[in-house]
Amino acid sequence: MLANVLVRPGEIELREIDTPSASAGEVVVRVRAALTCGTDLKTFLRGHPKFPLPMLFGHEFSGEIAQAGKGVKNFREGDAVMSVPSGPCGECYYCKRGQENICESAMANYALGAYAEYIKVPAQVVSQNMFAKPDSLSYKEAALLEPLACVLHGLSMITFHPEDTVVIIGAGAIGLLHMLALQVYGLHKIIVIGRKPYKLRLARELGAYIVIDATLGTTRAEVLEVTKGRGADVVIECTGQPSVWEASVNLVRRGGEVIFFGGCKQGTSVSFDTHRLHYDQITIRSPFHLTRSSVRQAYELLTERKLNGNPLITGTYPLDRLNEVFALLQQGNCIKYAVTPSGQ
Ligand SMILES: [Zn+2]
Ligand SMILES: [Zn+2]
Repeated sequence: MLANVLVRPGEIELREIDTPSASAGEVVVRVRAALTCGTDLKTFLRGHPKFPLPMLFGHEFSGEIAQAGKGVKNFREGDAVMSVPSGPCGECYYCKRGQENICESAMANYALGAYAEYIKVPAQVVSQNMFAKPDSLSYKEAALLEPLACVLHGLSMITFHPEDTVVIIGAGAIGLLHMLALQVYGLHKIIVIGRKPYKLRLARELGAYIVIDATLGTTRAEVLEVTKGRGADVVIECTGQPSVWEASVNLVRRGGEVIFFGGCKQGTSVSFDTHRLHYDQITIRSPFHLTRSSVRQAYELLTERKLNGNPLITGTYPLDRLNEVFALLQQGNCIKYAVTPSGQ
């Protein structure tokens, strides 16, 4: 089969490799759509602490079961499926305490290699986090299951009310998925902060209350103006830049909550004003990854057509143009691309 391999940072090769085969409990999925992700771009640029190079690349996907291993009961050859790339073991210290998002073996059982004709999905994932895809949902949209599940996991850690003002920093896929999810929950005062005109325009089209161009340097003044000088009830940081983490706690109101969703580069650190955090009682959350419950919620939002993810998919490219796709992602006038074996 043809599979894209990230050979070293900045270098992708489309290679002919052995088509995977499914052992007990596993399935092999014929990929119908894979989506680019911010994590993929970071990995493309600098490698990944958990996955050594060269590596099979891509983790957001949907497709059809090409082969089901022994003992797989829920799926048969030909079934349309959608899945996230990982699943919890249910037995480690963290899983037993309800923190399956940081399961010890989730990363060791990770489905990697979605920019390919086929991808093998580990048993732990098949049994916990793979679902039937209804015909009413396109393969491309179905591949949003993982990023949306991560977003919903983060939102499950905070409290919010329909009248709240939420600031989202970062107008990429994750920032906009936060906005779309909050809209489903009835929130409409959502301020989106970004830098790229394409993304800010889309945020506005998708119903952002206010859009702030961060390059103007007026962000804090604008947020304070809209919130009667208080600051936002909730701030969600989706850029993964230490300086933005630091700035986000100055956009939230007293007693408000901040989510650090964007993971920063290894070895970086941040500093905060202790008085601000303590005397203004700022709650900080730093959600990582997803849980079965957030995956199920994401599945419902997508399959019940409550959340329309289509506008986040800027275009579609075939497998052999992945280098081009990553060049476009670096320019930033896009949200996500679908990569499909057919290019359709
Ligand atoms: Zn992702
Ligand atoms: Zn576990």
